[in-house]
Amino acid sequence: MLANLIDGKWVVPSKATPYPIYDPSTGEVIEEVPLSEPTVVDAAVKAAQAAQPMWAAMSLTERVARMFRFKALLESRFEDLALAVTRNHGKTLDEARGEVRRGIDVVDFACGAPTLLQGRTLREVSTSVDQDVYRFPIGVAAGIPPFNFPVMIPLWMFPLAIVAGNTFVLKPSERTPLGAALLAELVNEIFPPGVFNMVHGASEAAEALITHDGIQAVSFVGSEPVARRVYEIAAAHHKRVQAAGGAKNHIIVMDDADLDLAVPAIIGSAFGNAGERCLAGSVVLTVGHIGDELLPRLQERAEKLVIGPGTDQSVELGPLVRAEHRQKVVSYIEKGISEGAHLLLDGRALMERPGFFLGPTILNEVSTKMSVGREEIFGPVLSVASTATLREAIERANTMELGNMAAIFTSNGKAAHEFRESIEAGMVGINVGVAQPFAFYPFSGWKRSFYGDLHIEGTDGIEFYTKKKVVVSRW
Ligand code: NAD
Repeated sequence: MLANLIDGKWVVPSKATPYPIYDPSTGEVIEEVPLSEPTVVDAAVKAAQAAQPMWAAMSLTERVARMFRFKALLESRFEDLALAVTRNHGKTLDEARGEVRRGIDVVDFACGAPTLLQGRTLREVSTSVDQDVYRFPIGVAAGIPPFNFPVMIPLWMFPLAIVAGNTFVLKPSERTPLGAALLAELVNEIFPPGVFNMVHGASEAAEALITHDGIQAVSFVGSEPVARRVYEIAAAHHKRVQAAGGAKNHIIVMDDADLDLAVPAIIGSAFGNAGERCLAGSVVLTVGHIGDELLPRLQERAEKLVIGPGTDQSVELGPLVRAEHRQKVVSYIEKGISEGAHLLLDGRALMERPGFFLGPTILNEVSTKMSVGREEIFGPVLSVASTATLREAIERANTMELGNMAAIFTSNGKAAHEFRESIEAGMVGINVGVAQPFAFYPFSGWKRSFYGDLHIEGTDGIEFYTKKKVVVSRW
């Protein structure tokens, strides 16, 4: 069974319920994770509280030096981290490598702390009066990531928190804890005991963490209903909170789009990571007659996707994370058909194989009244609909309650500009199918895709994990 990391020591809780961890490509149980109780969470928070004054008092140069060493260690274990992700999540090794790289990008960014943590000064604000703003760590921060990026999303959180002088408690996803378990081993080689702690568990452990008096800030990424709940509970307990939720991303294809660019980008967006991605393109809206050419090309390319275990180099689409999750995705396909969508490509035949596979599925003539046109599916299912004008397509996308990402494919600058200005989504792709911000920019979901004020990553992350003190002095 996996162990928790508390105050630099690995501990398997004596009373915790074991929870199975699968290899999604075979369906076999490969490990067990403890569903820790609130007493264990309490011990981890206390360890983080005890370590925080020592860690914050350490010079910034020393904290940054450790971050550089952590970065070097991550690079040296790059392939092991990617393999841990693939074994436990199922995505292809190339996708896992991409995830680890994007996570390390945040560590690179955190190494810039001497610039990022600077305050401001203004002399002679009044006669002989100067004013300075200093940044201080906020205290102990908690991180609760989802299952779909088990290495990258923890790395969105704790490097920025730690480099700013905070200590941290991570509760990895109970479905994919292997990546975080390896990350924790690496952290523990570099940082003093108690600076980074990890408690495995599910909602009970998460809630104990969010409501704990010793926690000052909560970073959460997961589904919309849970993000909303975490935001409400954390705020009610007077914590600073950033809670990123689900997505229903639309991709608009104009009739002047370069389809040689758009087709592979849409296939990658809809079916990459098996569609288990908050930046996945879920609905394609064609404008004018482009659908006549686009749809057969999408169908042909999707049919050719090589499906199998993520560790096989030729594979382009791995399995879903769990049997229950695949069942949820399949029930969306069934609902879509019963609500009137036209099934262009059916991935369900693949369910005969061992493991949690589901092939790419395309539904056409999807409306916003259908559950597949409105709700997050989080699997390899692409919905398509046609619209007459760009305005109609934008208005339709803007009826979504979620507003994580949207993209447009066009050769027309005016259309791209209109889209950029009016689309209600916080991350926007122009001739890009997955508009993921680089680590120095915030991961900026809008509407119900994000609850809070300061987003995860980028300079927002630094703002989130620091509090400011203004000093007014007269001499
Ligand atoms: P989830 O909401 O089921 O779980 C996320 C985390 O919350 C897990 O660690 C889980 O243990 C914990 N949790 C579950 N119930 C809880 C509760 N009642 N209180 C507190 N914590 C609780 O999400 P998931 O299925 O692991 O991940 C997929 C979802 O995450 C999708 O909706 C996806 O869009 C979203 N996601 C969003 C982003 C983003 O940046 N917006 C990024 C990745 C994934």
